[in-house]
Amino acid sequence: MHYISTNKQAAPALLQHAVLKGLAEDGGLYMPASIPALPASFFEQLHQLSLQEIAFTVASAFLHEDVPSHVLRPLVEEVLNFDIPLVEVEKDIYSLELFHGPTMAFKDVGARFMSRLMAYFTQDKSDNLKVIVATSGDTGSAVAAGFHQVPGIQVYILFPKGKVSPLQQKQLTTWGDNITAMEVEGTFDDCQRLAKQALADNELNREHLLTSANSINIARLIPQSFYYFYAFGQLQQQGKPVVFSVPSGNFGNLTGGLLAAAMGLPVHRFIAATNANDVVPKYLETGIYSPRSSVQTISNAMDVGSPSNFARMKALYNGEQEQFRQHITGYTFTDEETRKAIREVYLQYGYLLDPHGAVAYSGAKRFLSESSTPAIGVFLETAHPAKFKEVMEETLGEAIAIPARLQEFAGKQEHNVPLKNSFDELKAILSEA
Ligand SMILES: *Cc1c(COP(=O)(O)O)cnc(C)c1O
Repeated sequence: MHYISTNKQAAPALLQHAVLKGLAEDGGLYMPASIPALPASFFEQLHQLSLQEIAFTVASAFLHEDVPSHVLRPLVEEVLNFDIPLVEVEKDIYSLELFHGPTMAFKDVGARFMSRLMAYFTQDKSDNLKVIVATSGDTGSAVAAGFHQVPGIQVYILFPKGKVSPLQQKQLTTWGDNITAMEVEGTFDDCQRLAKQALADNELNREHLLTSANSINIARLIPQSFYYFYAFGQLQQQGKPVVFSVPSGNFGNLTGGLLAAAMGLPVHRFIAATNANDVVPKYLETGIYSPRSSVQTISNAMDVGSPSNFARMKALYNGEQEQFRQHITGYTFTDEETRKAIREVYLQYGYLLDPHGAVAYSGAKRFLSESSTPAIGVFLETAHPAKFKEVMEETLGEAIAIPARLQEFAGKQEHNVPLKNSFDELKAILSEA
């Protein structure tokens, strides 16, 4: 299978090229040239299949020409060595808990899959692969966890000094080995600019194998379709339409769901649930897409003003707003509404929503209350609430427990390299070894 750029100006690429390059040469995002349909027998068996079996079938449909089964099967099993439970929160509303991986955010799924594919595609290369990632918090730690101690790969994380939470900083800086965490004197935008400059630098590219681990990589997108099948399978026998509400920032998670639907999963509707950064809900309402600077909210991983995966959604729907509207409903929620949902769900059902999951829960709830046909709402719970301890405690007025997996980080030694906001300094570090 070939991968084509959403800008249509770059040559079709093989998977290896798309994964190792990240972004296409024309600045577009890679999409599979065609989306494989899965057979009816797969959907009939879905409720009996494990997450790993589903993931292998879906991954094979895309990758079987590029990665042999005897490599792909153990790869998928290792990536998903944790469960993604579907928990009933209240009647007809379920939480799909995507936070049981090593860094306790859904980005573990995509980052772990990508890291193993990159390792596979570079195993016969003599040079180390240098992976650069700019992060405002969650992405860097998921990428570090995915690549830690993977042979032949060196990871460079750029994070803004003083602008990530103390726990997030621990999750970025305590790995050691092949992970270098750089604390940049600047903002997240500066980190992103430095990363882009490095990836585009001719001299660095001549001497080193460089790539980006940001969410534009197709190897992060494909695995984000697996769990939609898994959740759907568990609800299938209730015979009601299923809607998925996805807390969205760059829209990679939701686009994973659209891939699942394009492969034949009969999802009734997707809900694009956002915070105040509502360019996609606005587009669905008005037909006008106007990206702008992001505003800060308590669901900070969704503070994106120009969602990168919009280009992929547009490619799936040939740029037609009517097609978008047939599949996706957009809702936006304020921080006040998000906090209210956290409080109400905790008081009524004893379930702790994190701020991102609370936006998605609110989306599912609103859709069901406005819908004339009875349906089941599944919201994607993308991070463990303890990752946002300060917001949670302020909202609930009580202390929340920190799981052992997060506490482990708190006790570890930080190794961070201070970096001035200067490309020359970064280049010197990348040029070593
Ligand atoms: C990244 C992230 C999101 C947003 O996902 P996108 O794929 O960018 O839309 C939502 N919640 C959490 C906790 C995240 O880390």
